[in-house]
Order: sequence, then C-alpha cells, then structure tokens
Amino acid sequence: MIPFSPPRIDQKIIDEVSDALRSGWITTGPRTKKFEKMITAYCGHESTLCVNSGSSGLELMLRWFGVGAGDEVIVPAYTYSATANVVVHCGAKPIFVDAGADFNMDVEKLQKAITTATKVIIPVDLAGFPCDYEEINSLVASEDIKSLFSSNSPEQKNLGRILVLSDAAHSIGARYKGKKTGTLTDVSVFSFHAVKNLTTAEGGAICLNLPEPFDNEDIYKYLCIKSLHGQTKDALAKSKAGNWQYDVIEAGYKYNMTDIQAAMGIVELERYDEDMLVKRKHIFDLYREGFTDKAWAVIPPYETAGKNSSCHVFLLRIAGVDETQRNIIISKIFDKQVSVNVHFIPLPMLSFYKNSGYSIDDYPVSYNNFSRVISLPVYYDLSDEQVQTVIRAVTESVEAVLL
Ligand SMILES: *Cc1c(COP(=O)(O)O)cnc(C)c1O
Repeated sequence: MIPFSPPRIDQKIIDEVSDALRSGWITTGPRTKKFEKMITAYCGHESTLCVNSGSSGLELMLRWFGVGAGDEVIVPAYTYSATANVVVHCGAKPIFVDAGADFNMDVEKLQKAITTATKVIIPVDLAGFPCDYEEINSLVASEDIKSLFSSNSPEQKNLGRILVLSDAAHSIGARYKGKKTGTLTDVSVFSFHAVKNLTTAEGGAICLNLPEPFDNEDIYKYLCIKSLHGQTKDALAKSKAGNWQYDVIEAGYKYNMTDIQAAMGIVELERYDEDMLVKRKHIFDLYREGFTDKAWAVIPPYETAGKNSSCHVFLLRIAGVDETQRNIIISKIFDKQVSVNVHFIPLPMLSFYKNSGYSIDDYPVSYNNFSRVISLPVYYDLSDEQVQTVIRAVTESVEAVLL
C-alpha cells in the first residue's frame, strides 16, 4: 500500500532528538529559541513564537487581539475545522466565505462578508498556494472598510482596522511576489503537525509582522508569558541559581513548544528549501505531466505569475463527476493499494457547523471543489516509480467510472 503522507524520519532527525533527550533539558529551552530564530531568518518577518500546535497559535492571537462574544471572524468555508473552531473557542462567530477556483477564499465574496462586527480575517493558503494578500491587505486598509471598524481592546485601537491573521498551516516556504509566507500580512501561523510539510510531530509557530506602532519583539515577550500560564519566568529561567521567584500576571494558556519538538524542526528547516521543497515540487510536476493529456483532469494551480506553492497536497479535481462518482473513484483507487484523501469537507457540511445554522447551499464553489476533488500523496520518501503507480491507479479508476 502506498501511504498518504508518512513523515520523513531519518537518522539526522533521530540523532538530534536523541541529543535533546540526553541534554538534560526537554521542555522549552535553547533548541526552541534557536528554532524560533531560524524561522524568523528563513521567512523574514519580525519575530517568531513557537507553540505546541498551529491551532494554539491561531487561538492565542485571537485572544491577544481581544476577540470575544459579539465579534465576527471571517474564515473560508473550505478549510480544516481548526481555522473556525478557534473562533468558537473565543466566543466569537465564524463567518464563512466561499472559495474560488484556486480553493482559496474568494476576495470579492470576502469584501461582502465584512460588517461592523468583523475583527479578524483568517485567510488560509490552501494546499500551500498563497492567497491574494495584496488584495486582502489593501481591502482592510481602505478607508471604507476602516470606517466600519470599532475597537474594544488596546490592540484593536492600535491597529485601527481588521487584523489579517493568515492560517499558513500548509504554506511554509511558499512565496507571493517573491516574498515568503510569514511576511505577507500582520500575523501568520504555521502548523508542524505530523502530516504537514515541516513537522515536529505536533507544533506550530506564530510569525509576528505587525505594523507600527506595534513592537513585535515586545509582543513576542508578552506572548511567551501568555502561552505559559501568565507566568513571568519560564522553567529555564527559574532553574538558574537563586532565580526561583515568579509572578502570574494573567490566567494564561499552556501552549509552549518543547525542545524535543524543536530538535526535529531545526533539522527539517535547515534542509527545507534545498531538499524538501525541491522534492515536493518534483512530485507535483510528475503529477501534472501524468495527467496533462486527460480531458477529465483539472490540475491545481501551484506556480503562477507571482505565486509559488509549498506543494503541500496535490488537489486533483475530476471534471464531470458528482460526489457519489468521486467516492466510487476513491474506493477503486484504494483497491489498487494507493492511499488518497479529500482536503477538505467544507465546514458547513460538518455536523457541528450544520447544527449551528450554516448551510452548504450558501457556498456553491466550495461544494463544487469538494465534490470533485481527490488529494494525491505527496511526501519526501515517495519515489518516482510510486508516483507513476498513483497516476495509473487514478487514471484507471476515473476511466472505469467515466467511460
Ligand atoms: C493542520 C491545520 C491547522 C492546525 O494545525 P495543528 O498544528 O494541527 O493545530 C490549521 N489550519 C489548517 C488549514 C490545517 O490544515
């Protein structure tokens, strides 16, 4: 069976994790701080806080901005549930926006969804393909939209407009007009979950890139406290001789990354551009070549003028099938010992959101994308020969249903 996305675990990762285990310091410490600095240098934003998941990172930033009951946060209908669940955790209301043909949030529909209650927009770089950040950033900065914004926290007052919090869970290493994700908007959050491009088993990073008058380094220091129970010193600082005293300045969260996780991340980030991204793009190219002469194959955009995807998952759409036929195709592919997937079931189709009053009928493009999509395996250890096996299995399965 060809698996869907096993992590890349080689001797280098095992050695670095072993070194962390033997070092005597396994929770947040020197390796986490090193990994943070590496991420900042890699992307080029102002400051990075590593956390225990991408979800924690998104939620922490919503809380930092003072999002709560009565507020609206705009999220795509077509994403993983984490993007919207964190909004619910804060007591705010997720407002879904339909997708475009590239799977990302449709900016025209986004504009129509903004109200006087909108506090944050969370665009998602789906499958690693960056959103239209120039359009989104200029939208929130426009006088019309700014005039709708009312602030009810010091952070909201300082920004004076809607915060753009990018869910970059899929898109580390992707570029938009030559600039890397992490730098493209106010704040971006990466996920290092086991299936993501760069993994620390579980983990995430908040990339701070806030404009004046914010001091991103000060915010970093505050978020270190907020993500560790509001405690003014972390365990490493307290372990220094005579440094046992501490205070708790708020009922904070427990979202810190461990040095065991950071050990994996350091190894992966060092070789990410030259190795992981090259491999992923190669697999995308092979899929594109393999399906290019099939009339039923809709190849996802991954390299366009101004946008370079991180090639996270290959979202092949099948033209002219309905949801039932797509499901039959998937089971035929599995019969040929190839694992595929669907990214994602639109949130309005899931019980929790359906029961909260959302309807997929309001998001026709999301449904259309979902009903025809099959996500193909993309991972470091996938060989060219296995890619050809996937292409054959998909082609035979689609043609058995279509012809
Ligand atoms: C994986 C994922 C997240 C959450 O990441 P975790 O690290 O698992 O919390 C958020 N958004 C999207 C789109 C994701 O795919």
